Amino acid sequence: MKAYDAVIGLEVHAQLLTSTKIFCGCSTKAGLPPNTSTCPVCTGMPGVLPVLNRKVVDFGIMLGLATGSRIAPRCIFARKNYFYPDLPKGYQITQYEHPLCEGGSILIETAQGVKRIGITRIHMEEDAGKTIHDEKAPLSYVDYNRSGVPLLEIVSEPDITSTDEAVAYLRELRQILMYLGICDGNMEEGSFRCDANVSVKPAGSARYGTRTELKNMNSFRNVQRALQYEIERHIEIIESGGEVVQETLLWDPSRGVTVSMRSKEESHDYRYFPEPDLVPVEIDSAWIDSVRSALPELPFARRERFIGQYGLPAYDAGVLTQTKAVADYYEECVRLLDRPKEISNWIMTEVMRALNEQGIPITELIVSPEMLTGLIALIDKGSISGSMAKEVFAEMVDTGESAGGIIEKKGIGQINDEEELRSLAREIIDAHPDEAHKYRSGKTGLLGFFVGMLMKATRGEANPKLASRIMKELLEE
Ligand code: ADP
Ligand code: MG
Ligand code: ZN
Repeated sequence: MKAYDAVIGLEVHAQLLTSTKIFCGCSTKAGLPPNTSTCPVCTGMPGVLPVLNRKVVDFGIMLGLATGSRIAPRCIFARKNYFYPDLPKGYQITQYEHPLCEGGSILIETAQGVKRIGITRIHMEEDAGKTIHDEKAPLSYVDYNRSGVPLLEIVSEPDITSTDEAVAYLRELRQILMYLGICDGNMEEGSFRCDANVSVKPAGSARYGTRTELKNMNSFRNVQRALQYEIERHIEIIESGGEVVQETLLWDPSRGVTVSMRSKEESHDYRYFPEPDLVPVEIDSAWIDSVRSALPELPFARRERFIGQYGLPAYDAGVLTQTKAVADYYEECVRLLDRPKEISNWIMTEVMRALNEQGIPITELIVSPEMLTGLIALIDKGSISGSMAKEVFAEMVDTGESAGGIIEKKGIGQINDEEELRSLAREIIDAHPDEAHKYRSGKTGLLGFFVGMLMKATRGEANPKLASRIMKELLEE
């Protein structure tokens, strides 16, 4: 079989965290009773006029700057005409020829190093309502609460060449949106949705093959599975002498197959034309500068800085910067205690485990950076052993008490007292004359046995290095 290259381009819809809709004052809050967050504007009553929510433009500029896009000094809205019951106006207000942003990119990590994925455009648009078909079948219902909720559509160049890269791109984009605080990134609930365009071509060929468009993938795993399936399907068709049909397909996660939904519409089918009810949006440099000055440090830059500034391995830097909140927590810890790698280890293991167990974000963890660094400082001083510290940490998570308080209350602490350990060790050797004899006649592997007995006798509190040295001395004297 010949070798093929996959070509993938992604269209992401990110629901924005504004408090009101894009063209009216209705709340964007999720989970409200159906059709209670609606008004004549977002239900498309005749004679009403949309008014643009300025915050949506702010958010779009933020993402544009974060992806190094050109921000259009003047952009306009367009009508995309089609009929569906979730679209009461009969058209969606979106952007077409003059989007808010163009020509950006996102950097992703691949096995071959850092790769730049181009972003063709970012534009603003309104969401449609939600049709509900299954709940009360054979009746269908429609809920317009989501109608008019603001979205950014982010279209990538066809620069992605594997399913891993597609997932890496989506993760990075989602992380940027979440760092910016403009989208909650929830894929299951649809606030971060992705359509994927995919084609294959003979390896090295410059000409793209015919693409299909995939919808309905509500997790990273499903994006990966759907793309993998579709790439293989294209190759099989081409290998058997057939031709790929350009169409839109739905991913069926339970069967693990793509199902044809409709033939691919062309943009002229939508009869796009400039929206006459809205004025063009003029964006001057003062507006852009004010947005820029409020931008947080972005995930990629922060990861690189963590590697450089704290000497962390790339893996640690990646884990710690996955969310802004964890990265902030980490940096606060390092500010309090200059032990970057130890702190990283603690956060990546014990802290993350506690967060998973409790199902909470780090901002709700009862153990503050002060408390965590307090604990690590006690290990550093040799006051408690690493394994003891883990127990103390678990207690801190449960009770919110400080490490010092717990250690005092429980009377634990590392035993560094040589005399105390030496007398315990002597008792142990006396109680095991056979083993002691074997050790002395050359079976030195038994040292572990004796040290283990000593650790047990101290309930694990003996300083392990000291315990081992004392045992050895006594056995060999
Ligand atoms: P449409 O108007 O049909 O959505 P676009 O030109 O907006 O088409 O492209 C949609 C997406 O498809 C973009 O992300 C683009 O990178 C991608 N794309 C375009 N051509 C191909 C191709 N041959 N194979 C895979 N993806 C493609
Ligand atoms: Mg498109
Ligand atoms: Zn409304």
